[in-house]
Amino acid sequence: MSYVDEVIEQVVKQNPAEPEFHQAVKEVLESLRVVVEANEEKYRKNALLERLVNPERQIKFRVPWVDDKGQVRVNTGYRVQFNSAIGPYKGGLRLHPSVNLGIIKFLGFEQIFKNSLTGLSIGGGKGGSDFDPKGKSDREVMAFCQSFMTELCKHIGANTDVPAGDIGTGAREIGYMFGQYKRIREVYEGVLTGKGLSYGGSLARTEATGYGLLYLTQELLSMNGISLEGKVIAVSGSGNVAIYAIEKAQQLGAKVVTASDSTGWVYDPEGIDVAALKEIKEVNRARLTEYKKYRPNSEYHDGRGVWSVKVDIALPCATQNELTLEDAKQLVANGCIAVCEGANMPTTLDATEYLQKNGVIFAPGKAANAGGVATSALEMSQNSERLSWSFAEVDAKLKDIMVNICHNMANAAERYGAKGNYVVGANIAGFEKVVDAMEAQGIV
Ligand code: NDP
Repeated sequence: MSYVDEVIEQVVKQNPAEPEFHQAVKEVLESLRVVVEANEEKYRKNALLERLVNPERQIKFRVPWVDDKGQVRVNTGYRVQFNSAIGPYKGGLRLHPSVNLGIIKFLGFEQIFKNSLTGLSIGGGKGGSDFDPKGKSDREVMAFCQSFMTELCKHIGANTDVPAGDIGTGAREIGYMFGQYKRIREVYEGVLTGKGLSYGGSLARTEATGYGLLYLTQELLSMNGISLEGKVIAVSGSGNVAIYAIEKAQQLGAKVVTASDSTGWVYDPEGIDVAALKEIKEVNRARLTEYKKYRPNSEYHDGRGVWSVKVDIALPCATQNELTLEDAKQLVANGCIAVCEGANMPTTLDATEYLQKNGVIFAPGKAANAGGVATSALEMSQNSERLSWSFAEVDAKLKDIMVNICHNMANAAERYGAKGNYVVGANIAGFEKVVDAMEAQGIV
């Protein structure tokens, strides 16, 4: 059996009931097959792949807090410190009821390659909890965040592990967590990114993942001789990534006609009204059912459905496995030319393969959504310097980074005989630097 297959089999056996982690490992290792085969003897001897798929450390802890009725609630907290070969662990904190160890491990594993792809010195990690901030009062969210950080603060630091936001963790949660870290550890340092501007945050961090997604999409299309201007786009999600993806797409002359949340989706043939979306989601923390009040000509539908709309480009920006084989078939039938992932692993493996086989340009999340973590690393640099850069400066650096990522993944794919396969290209380009650093640092 080949080394890649052996390691995939081991991962499935040793990590039962973690299907998302298995999926991520399979996706990455399959696309690295050609590199691994070229170095099989050396990698096997040094158990390189076994070390790559085993987190350096994983922490699981109890998070007790008191709700507004005086009832004690208990959630589970996680931090998986996956790989620090090229820099301190870096990756977001997800707060969502679906969170479990397997999901955090899938995200942490993907993060290693994504962070490497940015060209910045950041290792891979991820964390979170099964706490659901939805429907909680500010005081309850604060109680949870303080309890969560009371344990987490023992394991993180500006030079060891720097968490950030993710699903359910926005500026409010980061603020409460930063306050508690500072209070317990008695140190004012850039231990979290996605901070507010008044206490060390970076301009353009809020916009970074969505904007970065569009910078990469634009570059990728232009490499394929296609212009973004005038294209019709379907976006899923209506959170941080989706909102700023829609905003930038419109600034670049495209029209986004959909958005969704976990209860339903909207179709707005005239183009999504970003100001309305921001008010509903960022200010009122409400459901998308509200959207029709702002835009009477739009349609609201319960459940899933954004991929059934006829569009040129699809940008999944909600969550993992939200674009299935059936959706891919529908997109292809409707003449979709590109799918670029704003979320982490939103496209199932069979859907990805179907899209690629049918000539759809496909950019994987670890490249396409790397703008968020890249700008987080820029926030770390500003914190170290105790300086704040202007919006234009950060945005220009973000754009440069996304354009570089785009070329790096395209070149890596071509070098290994897989021209146009950006999944292979992104994984190989991310892997090369990490492996080089792991080999140089010996058996650790
Ligand atoms: P938010 O919490 O701001 O928004 C998530 C959006 O997705 C919401 O509209 C939410 O709807 C929807 N959603 C979440 N879970 C589900 C589900 N199970 N089914 C259907 N819809 C769902 O998160 P972000 O925008 O920050 O993150 C979105 C994706 O992008 C995630 O995969 C994240 O890992 C990835 N990402 C985020 C980065 C960032 O900088 N924020 C960086 C890189 C990747 P509802 O409000 O109803 O829950």
